[in-house]
Amino acid sequence: MTTPSSDIRVLNDATCSACGLLCDDIVLSISGHRILKADRACELGRSWFLGNHRVETLPPASVDGITVPVAEAIGRAASILVNARAPVIAGLTSATLESQSLAARLADRLGATIGPDHSEEATPRLLAIQRSGAVLASFGEVIHRAKLILCWGIDPARTHPRLRERLIDRPGRFVPEGRAGRTVLVVDQSVSECRSWADGAIAVSSGRHTEAIQALRGAVRGVAADPIRVERHSGSPVDLWQSWADLLKRAPYSAIIFGAELAREGASAIEALMRLLDDLNTTTRCVAVPLAGPGNPAGAEAILTGRLGAPVSVDLADGIARYRPVDADPWLRLQSGEADALLLVGEDLDERTTTRPKGVPVILLGPNATARSAPGVVAIATGMPGIDDGGTFYRSDEVSLPLRPAMTPVHPSMHEVLATLLSYCATLQSH
Ligand code: SF4
Repeated sequence: MTTPSSDIRVLNDATCSACGLLCDDIVLSISGHRILKADRACELGRSWFLGNHRVETLPPASVDGITVPVAEAIGRAASILVNARAPVIAGLTSATLESQSLAARLADRLGATIGPDHSEEATPRLLAIQRSGAVLASFGEVIHRAKLILCWGIDPARTHPRLRERLIDRPGRFVPEGRAGRTVLVVDQSVSECRSWADGAIAVSSGRHTEAIQALRGAVRGVAADPIRVERHSGSPVDLWQSWADLLKRAPYSAIIFGAELAREGASAIEALMRLLDDLNTTTRCVAVPLAGPGNPAGAEAILTGRLGAPVSVDLADGIARYRPVDADPWLRLQSGEADALLLVGEDLDERTTTRPKGVPVILLGPNATARSAPGVVAIATGMPGIDDGGTFYRSDEVSLPLRPAMTPVHPSMHEVLATLLSYCATLQSH
């Protein structure tokens, strides 16, 4: 709801997308085209809302660095994509579900390779879950039921600052005392801020998470282990793992929250975690809660899965969708010279685009797309989701939340541009 007051407007329940918690209780104070305050947002969210997302002075579109009307730029983009032999579509993680869906349709029409930009972090998790399955839960279920929360390899103060307030301290239906009714355990590298509010912590070095989870799993299963070997491999004594295993087995409902740190060890650590959940779920209830990064990466995975059958790295060159997690990452295809056109949805020119193989045209769609134009680049400025563009994002737990744009847009929405691009491509292909 927007409440007018002199020249300052107040927008309640705005959604912050600076991290995967997607807090949707932010109160924005807006004057003209500036957000002055973002109450309830953490520091990370506040700097995102107050950042300069809307540059009215930017040209609406450019081709080879020359300002052109938006329709002309979309026409040029359509011509490049339709005539490309092996186009790739990348970006996507800062786009709305609606835009991601159109990008998937465009990939299907063009026979392109498509994948979101967070695939390096996502692929190990997805491969692990495809092998072992996963027991997941919504934030709401964790708040209402979890008597024990284990934060594994995350540093919420840096990446998800309101995690404690949102999931740890909050009272739930079966945990009315909130934090006082929960046991909180932390696995970190010995320096995370969440140690200060945890009931127990174990330091695990980077690269040792798989062994550490196996040590905990062995304790849960009651497997006799060599104490010296367990401590050497996991970094902590077997007795400590046994005490955590007992706490997890005694808890009627526990949740293990994890993030990108585990994925950095490849699929093995996350697969071990999912097997640990299987072991615990033979006698009690335990769920996993993966934390997504900023923007809408969870939405990109869900849309690509729903529309094309796989969450990342989908190759449509043969007219059918093929899931190729190892070799069909769009950036890999681009850098290896296998792609001859790049559509980048929601990102700006960066090193990956400026160092692309010579002669490969780039189409940029995004709020700052026209800020740095260059030869071989078609750039179209769009609204910023959550600032002056609406739509829907997925939270880390795949609950969809509407964005409430704070301002009227100066540029067309990404959704509008993609819809027009799709229709131009269809027209060109029909000739
Ligand atoms: S915790 Fe995340 S989503 Fe919530 S306000 Fe902070 S940055 Fe935004």
